[in-house]
Amino acid sequence: VMDTDISTEVLADKVMSGDRIMLSKAITLIESNARQHYQKAQELLHLLLPNICPSIRIGITGVPGAGKSTFIEEFGFSLCEKGYKVAVLAVDPSSTVSGGSILGDKTRMERLARHPNAFIRPSPSTGTLGGVHRKTRESIIACEAAGYDIIIVETVGVGQSEVIVRGMVDFFLLLAITGAGDELQGMKKGIMELADAIVVNKADGENKKLAEKTKREYNQILHFLMPATRGWETKAYTCSALYGDGIQEVWNTITLFIEKTKNNGAFTERRQSQIIEWLFAMIRERLENSFFQHNEIKQYLPFIQDAVAKETITVSNAVDALFQKYESSFENR
Ligand code: GDP
Repeated sequence: VMDTDISTEVLADKVMSGDRIMLSKAITLIESNARQHYQKAQELLHLLLPNICPSIRIGITGVPGAGKSTFIEEFGFSLCEKGYKVAVLAVDPSSTVSGGSILGDKTRMERLARHPNAFIRPSPSTGTLGGVHRKTRESIIACEAAGYDIIIVETVGVGQSEVIVRGMVDFFLLLAITGAGDELQGMKKGIMELADAIVVNKADGENKKLAEKTKREYNQILHFLMPATRGWETKAYTCSALYGDGIQEVWNTITLFIEKTKNNGAFTERRQSQIIEWLFAMIRERLENSFFQHNEIKQYLPFIQDAVAKETITVSNAVDALFQKYESSFENR
């Protein structure tokens, strides 16, 4: 439940002072589907915007069981120990479809959650993928206004969510495991082209040799793919999230990536094109809602639909008729 007694100004001040409970409240407000919350959230973001800190946004994806939680806990903890403030957000495609969750509501990353420099937020639980997209982007802003300079966005390797997360981060990491087989590797080609690094996890014990072999195989495939980022060669690495091996190397890779892309302009270029993409995505969403929630359209659409189904009018004629209704309501104003 959102308490309305706290003013937007006070909430903004508390978020900016680094109050984690207030940051949680702010994100709850951002994630709310209620109309009055939407307006309040937009006021809040307006107040927060001038205070956002320079950050590194890292996307992490991988199939369930790849070790994302284990990796983020280990990786995030080491960054917190270095003095960074780390926020972990999640985009969970399953919750938008089924209401259930693949990423899980289980208490995750307990050790990291207890670190004073960490903030962990589970996935927004309802809404369309587009809605979740907006909420995650705005939550990133809230975290950055609260001084979190490393933002980790986690998602499960299912369908569209990877493309969406790629569109909101600077560096995209694919956490892989051995024994995926040729078939799965072929399927992953699209995802591999989004990645700035492929990290083969669970390179420990008896699995270590196989992980090294998988890494080499990934490198061979990567050689023939388009790199995700201009001026950066995507490579495969190994790590053991469980034992903390190779975690520092991942961080070194990311730091090198940031340095290189800032120098060649790709970093700023990507941030700018991402925000413009977001602008257009929101325009499209607003237009779609405006159209389908339009009173006359709502009344008229079932008849048009019926006529189209019975093939008494063409689809183009149906769309023309609908838009005539829709657009004439603006002309008469
Ligand atoms: P997620 O579903 O991707 O978040 O995966 P989890 O982090 O929950 O890990 C799934 C399982 O793999 C758990 O039992 C972990 O303990 C195990 N696991 C994660 N990382 C490693 C690793 O580096 N080595 C080994 N041997 N097991 C790991």
